Amino acid sequence: MLKIAFIAHDRKKDEMVNFVTAYEHVFVGHSLYSTGTTGQRIMEVTKLDIHRYMSGPLGGDQQIGSMVAQDELDLIIFLRDPLMAQPHEPDITALLRLCDVYGIPVATNIATAEILVKAIDRGDFAWRELVHKYKPGVDE
Ligand code: PGA
Repeated sequence: MLKIAFIAHDRKKDEMVNFVTAYEHVFVGHSLYSTGTTGQRIMEVTKLDIHRYMSGPLGGDQQIGSMVAQDELDLIIFLRDPLMAQPHEPDITALLRLCDVYGIPVATNIATAEILVKAIDRGDFAWRELVHKYKPGVDE
């Protein structure tokens, strides 16, 4: 069972809801997390149970980042709006940075999200063992 987080900026929320609905059968077996409104929107139209953190601008990205830092998250689908400035841009940058620090796969657009969800469906997650092997501080 993987721990998966969903975040979508406002103009990407419909896309996220459609995506998660289409792959509900894949996500149903996993532990799911989200920022506040994103999770609410998904739960309105699916049967998925999602642990919702705060809304992104109020600290939700940082809460999800804290999971990454504690090695408690396996994958993030983060549909960003590339055409609109966000008030919490520093939090977004910080979350993506932590994903790179810890080698957590993060899809920031629907094309990458599709590839990742198919990998989840195949059970194709041997890379998690590599991530643990090369975890910062372990081999240094
Ligand atoms: P939200 O937060 O899911 O609460 O809207 C996401 C964001 O806009 O960063």
